[in-house]
Amino acid sequence: MKKIFSIIVLVLIFASCRSQNKTMTSQEKADYSKPKLVVGIVVDQMRYDYLTRFESKFGEGGFKRMMREGFNCKNNHFNYVPTYTGPGHASVYTGTTPKYNGIIGNNWYDKVSKEMVYCAGDENVSPIGTEDDAGKMSPHRMQTTTFSDENRLFTQMQGKTIGISLKDRGAILPAGHTANAAYWFHGMEEGSWISSSFYMNELPKWVKDFNTSDATESYLKVWNTLYDISTYTESVSDENTFEGGFGGKDKATFPYDLKALSKDNRGFDIIKATPYGNSLTADFAMAAIKAESLGKDAITDVLTVSFSSTDYIGHNFGVNSKEIEDTYLRLDKDLERFFKYLDATVGEGEYTVFLTADHGAIDVPNYLKSVRIPAGYLDNRATKSRFDKFLIKHYKNSGIVENVSNNQIFLNRKFIDSIGLNINDVQERIVNELIGYKNIDKVFSAYTMTTTSFTTGIESLLQNGYSQKRSGDIIIVPDTNYISYGSTGSTHGSGLNHDTHVPLLFFGKGVKHGETLDKTVIPDIAPTISALLGISFPNSTTGKPLGFVLD
Ligand code: ZN
Ligand code: ZN
Ligand code: ZN
Repeated sequence: MKKIFSIIVLVLIFASCRSQNKTMTSQEKADYSKPKLVVGIVVDQMRYDYLTRFESKFGEGGFKRMMREGFNCKNNHFNYVPTYTGPGHASVYTGTTPKYNGIIGNNWYDKVSKEMVYCAGDENVSPIGTEDDAGKMSPHRMQTTTFSDENRLFTQMQGKTIGISLKDRGAILPAGHTANAAYWFHGMEEGSWISSSFYMNELPKWVKDFNTSDATESYLKVWNTLYDISTYTESVSDENTFEGGFGGKDKATFPYDLKALSKDNRGFDIIKATPYGNSLTADFAMAAIKAESLGKDAITDVLTVSFSSTDYIGHNFGVNSKEIEDTYLRLDKDLERFFKYLDATVGEGEYTVFLTADHGAIDVPNYLKSVRIPAGYLDNRATKSRFDKFLIKHYKNSGIVENVSNNQIFLNRKFIDSIGLNINDVQERIVNELIGYKNIDKVFSAYTMTTTSFTTGIESLLQNGYSQKRSGDIIIVPDTNYISYGSTGSTHGSGLNHDTHVPLLFFGKGVKHGETLDKTVIPDIAPTISALLGISFPNSTTGKPLGFVLD
């Protein structure tokens, strides 16, 4: 009996050792094949052709390192309209489009509360690190998970997620619902990185230290070109009629004395609209890696970084400006510095990076016109006045329209019902009216969007951006290259190539070297990273993993 007992004990010990060894080995193996850190980089308003246009002036350690060591998807596009910042960031990380993630604009008309809402705005949270409403933000309006959420679930909340961007929406939406933290920049007189009670009750010490250091103040300096301006042959002359410029300075020309200009340009906010805003973002991201020990163990962490200054500068000076050229040459230097830091702290080959954009941008329409390319500006006042007359003539009431925003019309469904009309008939009648208006190229009804399945063309892009619950009754497509914007600077939002075609670069652990001209779409990014990590795809992914990118 005793002997049998000891044999059983021995067998049990042996079995438990074996199973423990086996588990440990497979665990180690699984962890070994995963990056310690995934860094997602979004460059706000980066067109694909910036990679090629400025390539000869880039250094070896930034964009060119990603292309040299990693994989370049050269035909990567947004597959929905509108191509705005909120939807862009949400789509990169949720692996789907506004139709499912619900981020249908930066701001949109909320059919329930009957007011405009902001994609990251949240009245139920409080600001942290400021008293300002700039801190009342959360991802609550995003309806689906991000790959960073899935990594949190997969790792039992052991893998950290931190989101960083000058813009709140650029930090919050990528980091997802389960993030440890998201930080964004509040300029004005404060010039500090802030958060909200959605994430924490108090800023961690390292953030407070960063805010009280002279890190931000030191960028209130003179912005001049990195290299001799005469070598900037990839952009139009510095002085031209297509640029906005800063308040308090007559001409939009180098150099810009930021300290002197700051009082006429909302204090520290001026830094956001210069390349130093990107440098500050990189500084803060590196401080986060160090203080939060990101990528220090075998459990994958996720850091999302969005460089916003590129967008402010594009809006102000336009895509063809010397200011944009200088911004990208400087961003290249910031990326080099950032990658070197990752090599030193996480280890070369131990992390994986992807870089893309949230949308592109159009050349300044006045510039396009000057070189005889069809382009122009929408006369919204004339359109509204003609449309109001139509509504009064046919419905005796212009109040039949509740809201017009993001090229969509929201109808008062209750009122339409009360006067005994059918909503589909009213939509159809308005479609037929508007298509006759100047500079309106296409008009679709909600009925069409929800009853027809489009697979190609602008119709398909509109449908991918269309949320039956949140979007409007009528969708308008302006003429090609016609925008609602001031006469200087660039903007974005359309389904045209200049807005949809953006870089997609992967490099680091698990990524092959190569390039493709096969079409990829933004929602492919999240499932590709999920596949690399061996985790669930975000819950509403419509993209596909890009197998050819992975080792
Ligand atoms: Zn943007
Ligand atoms: Zn200029
Ligand atoms: Zn923008």
